[in-house]
Amino acid sequence: MERYRVREDEKIQLKDIDPGDTGKYDGEKDEGLELLGELNQELEQLQELLYAEHKHRVLVVLQGMDTSGKDGVIRHVFEGVNPQGVRVASFKVPTPEELDHDYLWRIHKQTPAKGEIVIFNRSHYEDVLVVRVHELVPEMVWKKRYEQIREFERHLVQEGTIILKFFLHIDLEEQKERLQARLYDPTKTWKFNPGDLKERALWDVYTEAYEDAINKTSTVEAPWYIVPANKKWYRNLVIASVLVDALKKLNMKYPQPAEDLSGIVIQ
Ligand code: AMP
Ligand code: MG
Repeated sequence: MERYRVREDEKIQLKDIDPGDTGKYDGEKDEGLELLGELNQELEQLQELLYAEHKHRVLVVLQGMDTSGKDGVIRHVFEGVNPQGVRVASFKVPTPEELDHDYLWRIHKQTPAKGEIVIFNRSHYEDVLVVRVHELVPEMVWKKRYEQIREFERHLVQEGTIILKFFLHIDLEEQKERLQARLYDPTKTWKFNPGDLKERALWDVYTEAYEDAINKTSTVEAPWYIVPANKKWYRNLVIASVLVDALKKLNMKYPQPAEDLSGIVIQ
């Protein structure tokens, strides 16, 4: 799955990356789903260990165009993890209070504590995406933010946070189908937001903004992964694999008891 990681010196273009890619699971969805089930269980155990050890902090950033599946990832990849120790922070249009502060203020408040996994459903990247596309601040303001974001993330990493950033990569056709489903499927109409059509019309401008954001902020410490996301099961598989690998690398151990327990008898 490391091939989806954007290297620090790399300059990616999204059109070169196939959103329908299913890697070595081409035509093998069942096999992929089976592996996903195993990864889910592994993730459950690793998260328990992370919580028990109370040493590392884990931040997962999810970004992507509307309908790219951010909510789906949260539902499926984190299925079964203990809600104690995993938290979702969703970033919407900033409130007046948030707008009165610098853009990282609301973000920093939500970063993970020791032993915790926090999933950002949208993030500080909106401040170089929607904000750039709609010119919500002048160019000279958002242009400085890539460097600020790199510094902010470096600071978090140096203080013991693991950061994994995922761009859910779908294409225009797939978005059309998913928006269509939101129009016709009564279980999905609640998700339909007419504003999404305006954003859809800006697809190319968003693509450019995403490419810039990814290219300027994928670092060794806080890498971006471009996740082929037309196929939901493969999208989940890629993210689950990357997470499990990253957590395994931490070589976590259950804490030792503070005193020798061998002589203790429970009456
Ligand atoms: P959703 O994720 O569908 O609930 O929508 C949240 C909306 O909030 C999206 O349209 C985002 O672009 C928007 N949003 C998130 N962060 C910001 C921000 N910093 N400035 C402006 N809009 C934002
Ligand atoms: Mg939306």
